[in-house]
Amino acid sequence: MASTACIFCKIVKGEIPSFKLFENDKVFAFLDIQPLSRGHALVIPKFHGAKLTDIPDEDLREILPVAKKLAQVSGAENFNILQNNGRIAHQVVDHVHFHMIPKPNETEGLG
Ligand code: 5GP
Ligand code: ZN
Repeated sequence: MASTACIFCKIVKGEIPSFKLFENDKVFAFLDIQPLSRGHALVIPKFHGAKLTDIPDEDLREILPVAKKLAQVSGAENFNILQNNGRIAHQVVDHVHFHMIPKPNETEGLG
């Protein structure tokens, strides 16, 4: 199930450190190492698969409620949920991940 070469599987196992935001039996969430804004989070299935189409529905359906909760606790009125599949679609890490990117109000500036 886990891929020994996958950095996100290593994060789930604690072999690579991360700032963990949430964990249950199927889902892991942590801060992005190169955040596009303050609170930029990644929500991933613990099940290893490169693309959305590789992940069982039972794992997938637990993801969005976590992204929703992180959006709520971020306090952001505006945010993006993004999920890239394949190089042409800008996927860099081949373990499915949903970005939750708060968009700060203009008066707050970046970050
Ligand atoms: P993608 O372009 O594949 O959708 O996004 C991959 C994301 O993973 C990027 O935003 C990148 O900053 C993040 N990332 C890559 N390596 C690490 C890491 O080792 N730790 C954390 N926390 N985030 C990572
Ligand atoms: Zn993986």
